[in-house]
Amino acid sequence: MTKYNLGCGSKILPGYANVDCRDLPGVDMVMDLSRLPWTPSLTPGEEIVAHDFLEHFPRTLTDGILGEMWISLVTDGKLELQVPDLDLIADVLVAGEEGFICSTCERHVIPYEGRCGFCQQTVTQIQEKALEMVYGGVDYPENQHKTGFTFATLSGRLLRAGFERIERIDSEKHAKNYGMVVRCRKGVMNWS
Ligand SMILES: [Zn+2]
Repeated sequence: MTKYNLGCGSKILPGYANVDCRDLPGVDMVMDLSRLPWTPSLTPGEEIVAHDFLEHFPRTLTDGILGEMWISLVTDGKLELQVPDLDLIADVLVAGEEGFICSTCERHVIPYEGRCGFCQQTVTQIQEKALEMVYGGVDYPENQHKTGFTFATLSGRLLRAGFERIERIDSEKHAKNYGMVVRCRKGVMNWS
């Protein structure tokens, strides 16, 4: 049974079919996953990992891509997504009294005199990191973010696409990068 690592870039996962639009070392299949339907179609696998992937496509393609993921999994197959979390990012940009997570020391901070009280990073520097997560690194053409998600909006789209048992896996690493990891399973019905 196959496992897929979609949009792998240079983050090759052993034991997975690593798929990317760029022909980088370790990439097993070069495919433009923005072209729907996916051609050639992927043999349904037991797992899809797509880290830092969905936000690179226009929001008009999100449902279509989730639909292709649904098709590319066996029933009850596992999907794991990692995307920037606009809720966390909004906290940084608003910089309100509730505070936010510092991109350097990873703590929840209420800044004092324009700085993180733990690591002295300035609020502006922390906001720059948050903006990178909104718009992408832009160090190569495909590394631009064209849409974004909150857990609520992503869950809604996953449910519509026929995924269930949607859960958020949090860790400090993801908070630092203002991202979220969401796991779910392919259900029997696709509602879209
Ligand atoms: Zn800090």
